[in-house]
Amino acid sequence: MSWEASEARSYFCPCGEGHYTVTDLSDDWGRYDSSWAMLCPKCRETHGLYTFHTCCSGLTETHHAWVSKKLLADLAEAMTQIREEKISLGLYLEKWYGDVWRSHFKLMSRKNVWLILTENGKHYPSLSTFYNHIRHSGIIKKLNDYLRYDDLEIILRILKINDEELESRAKTIRDLERLANLQEEKIRQSTYKKSRVFVIPTS
Ligand SMILES: [Zn+2]
Repeated sequence: MSWEASEARSYFCPCGEGHYTVTDLSDDWGRYDSSWAMLCPKCRETHGLYTFHTCCSGLTETHHAWVSKKLLADLAEAMTQIREEKISLGLYLEKWYGDVWRSHFKLMSRKNVWLILTENGKHYPSLSTFYNHIRHSGIIKKLNDYLRYDDLEIILRILKINDEELESRAKTIRDLERLANLQEEKIRQSTYKKSRVFVIPTS
């Protein structure tokens, strides 16, 4: 299914000396988006397009805005750092706790494994989903999937680990995520309202 494009509308760019265009796109599935093109050479040097989503009454809306390239680069750097720290923490978990983790469940029935992982079914996944997962990938693969930052709380609870190094790595990630959230907040506030204000007559 192809996108249908509206006529492009022109708006003043952030520096005010040129303009950019926005073309609305829609398709037969009721999807909407827009395509933004910066035509000001000066703003093309300093600004990049930032895309983000908001959710309102179950509908996801996509927004675009021009953002200083410096802010975009800072955010991209923070996201890369978070990704790398998470990978590194996963490797650390595998190295120091992988065997302990897997052998913890070794003699248990599959249902007991599920009961322990989910605290008696209090958390995701449901028993049937859990069975589905292990039918697809096997129990070892399923257990290995827990050896990552996002499931750290579960591992700490079950193995009762007290590890300062691990705690400090987790704190680093939490701090980086807080910083990245602030950066995103700053980007959304500083740019979103600015540039869509003045319409240049197109004909
Ligand atoms: Zn400009």
